Amino acid sequence: MLMCKEATRLMSLKLDRKLTFQERVSLRLHLTMCHACRQCDQQFTLLHKIKNRLSLEPPQEENRK
Ligand SMILES: [Zn+2]
Repeated sequence: MLMCKEATRLMSLKLDRKLTFQERVSLRLHLTMCHACRQCDQQFTLLHKIKNRLSLEPPQEENRK
């Protein structure tokens, strides 16, 4: 069983790279049991989506004439 600290580490890790099968399973298991970390995971995912959307946005065109 993962500690919350370890689970949080995996959550942020999975935004940078694919987790190994074992890491995914451990995190999944922890999230099933731990409400706090489930909420934390949602926040991480949301933040990641926002970040992705911002970096995908085309540059502002105000400099173009
Ligand atoms: Zn936890």
